[in-house]
Amino acid sequence: MRWMQRASALLALGVAAMPLAAATLPASLSQGGLVTATVAAGSSATVNGKSVRVGTDGMLVFGAGRDEKGPIVVVITTPDGRRETSRLAVTPRAWPVERVNGVPAKTVNPPPDIAARIQREQAEVAAARKRDDDREGFAHGFIWPVTGRISGRFGSQRIFNGTPKSPHPGMDIAVPQGTPVKAPADGIVTFAKPDLYLTGGTVLIDHGFGLSSNFLHLSRLDVKVGQVVHQGEVIGAAGMTGRATGPHVHWGINWFEVRLDPLLLPGIAGTAPH
Ligand SMILES: [Zn+2]
Repeated sequence: MRWMQRASALLALGVAAMPLAAATLPASLSQGGLVTATVAAGSSATVNGKSVRVGTDGMLVFGAGRDEKGPIVVVITTPDGRRETSRLAVTPRAWPVERVNGVPAKTVNPPPDIAARIQREQAEVAAARKRDDDREGFAHGFIWPVTGRISGRFGSQRIFNGTPKSPHPGMDIAVPQGTPVKAPADGIVTFAKPDLYLTGGTVLIDHGFGLSSNFLHLSRLDVKVGQVVHQGEVIGAAGMTGRATGPHVHWGINWFEVRLDPLLLPGIAGTAPH
């Protein structure tokens, strides 16, 4: 009955009754999941205390990382000063273990000079993910960049040649060498290099609001930094450059530095890559 008290308080102040829900937020999300929501235009928002972009149309985006325990606290402040706090529960997931053998030893335990190169390359990629672009390339959902068997899942604990490594930060789709890779959503290319040590041919696309896709192990790059791409446009070709044991496309999706599961994206969730 709290809403009635609030409604009558507003009426008592002579303010016209307005819908009290400032946002259309779900009650919960899964680890690795993405939320796109609409709040009253002109609102401001924080997610776990961090200020996030609200589009001119009220669009808001955030995600839960692989190990996020929740709750995720979202505070919306509407233009008329109302403040609404939502606590979203985060549903835990069981992460599989993936053993990958036959990985070139120099990519599993790189020598110090190579480790420095890897660090430098990862810093460049991390910088590209800091952008907070106002484009809404994600707004029409995502499509599969290639179709094929899913050969590696987001979040799995990976053991390379018997050595435990960090969790798999994206999804692998096994396809023949040279298969065209399509932009899963509109965006702008923010990184494109053919020869990173671990990830080989690497392309990042910024879809806006901190959401970015990365495509790794490409055999060919068809785009340049600064190029605007549209959903379905070919950005390169699949390969096995960098640390890979066979031709596949690694597709990762980030909300800033937080890695999300491509399989949970709108347009992808519940569909098969065929
Ligand atoms: Zn991968």
